[in-house]
Amino acid sequence: MGVSQFARGIAESPTMALNERARVLREQGESIVHLGIGEPQNAAPKSAVDASAAILAGGKIKYTPTTGVPSFKKAIIRYTETNYGRTVSPKNVIVCSGAKQAIFNALWTILDPGDEVILLAPYWVSYPEMVKMCRAVPVVVTPPAGSLTPAVDDIVRAVTPRTRAIIVNSPNNPSGMVFSREMVGALVAFCEDRGIHAIMDDIYHKLVYDGVKASSCYDFTTRETNASSLIVVNGVAKTYGMTGFRIGWALASEEIVGAMGTLQSQTTSCTSSLCQAGAEGAILGPQDDVESLRCCMERNRDLIVAELGKVPGVKVVKPSGTFYCFPDFSGCFRDGVARGSFELSMFLLSKARVITVPGKDFGLEGHLRLSYAGSTADVVEGMKRIRWALDPSTAKDIQIGDKTVTRDWL
Ligand code: PMP
Repeated sequence: MGVSQFARGIAESPTMALNERARVLREQGESIVHLGIGEPQNAAPKSAVDASAAILAGGKIKYTPTTGVPSFKKAIIRYTETNYGRTVSPKNVIVCSGAKQAIFNALWTILDPGDEVILLAPYWVSYPEMVKMCRAVPVVVTPPAGSLTPAVDDIVRAVTPRTRAIIVNSPNNPSGMVFSREMVGALVAFCEDRGIHAIMDDIYHKLVYDGVKASSCYDFTTRETNASSLIVVNGVAKTYGMTGFRIGWALASEEIVGAMGTLQSQTTSCTSSLCQAGAEGAILGPQDDVESLRCCMERNRDLIVAELGKVPGVKVVKPSGTFYCFPDFSGCFRDGVARGSFELSMFLLSKARVITVPGKDFGLEGHLRLSYAGSTADVVEGMKRIRWALDPSTAKDIQIGDKTVTRDWL
């Protein structure tokens, strides 16, 4: 009876756990600034809401084909042509319950027990656990000191006969880095040559700044989609601020998509028809919401980077994408504050009521992930509190909600 040993070995998503913690503290009346959040606060595009509402009003809410509603798959194909310059067929497309399920289904489809998957630190928190859930082994490649992007040579050196995939996430959660064309090109060419799957997690590909563009992996392969080892994951959660619709998709060879479909047919059957309609509405509708979200995030990014620059001991690399930054706080570690990223995150929560995510969970100790996906007011207030907690040159007293708090640790 009870939970299996295997299930016990899988960690809870720290970001989902932090969301819950923030909710509970707010319910208790605490003034919490949530810089841990991984979702934009904008409303879903009107085209998405209208399309879902139309299905709901019709009252016919039924199962859809396992791999997705044909008209939505057609819209994804158009999206891929526009954004990636590649035409795929409906048999190369599977719609899943979020990019998260698309990645999990892809991993489950390609991995046998004991196979290895290369993860590039800092990596998204869910990758190692998903690999373990497939009874495979995550192999982490870390960046050279001072950098947030592993070197291609180090990635290639980590490959063994058991390597089945490399997960590439650019723009990157948590670092906000957009990998160079040279890096994406080298990894795709290497994977295609060696028959290793390059799983491209492109969920943030439109949230890019300073004129930077996220490269299309298809630029670096001459293979037909059915002969390619590329698995490209995308979705509507981040670009359109539609996290709660739970719609993502994967593009891959017919063989891989077919096997992912079989898995899905025996687990979730299909994703919600209401939500697929909403996602179709979003990607076919006016795209001005995407641009206004991008501009708002770019402004928040400028603000948070400028404020972080004022905190003594903090080193920050300016992100070119996503809505995260991943500063190195190790210069702030000291007795009475914290000795590591988990302790610092807990310290900032207990003293300043700011939620951050420890770098340790992303495979890079010393850092914290700060999200600027919330309102500008949240970013300003969160940074004011962090600076107060860590910078002795700021005033000792601060107002947190209805309390005046005095710093007595620096
Ligand atoms: N990949 C990355 C890198 C992410 O940050 C997230 C969401 N935090 C996802 C995938 C999952 O996206 P979705 O909400 O579509 O499942």
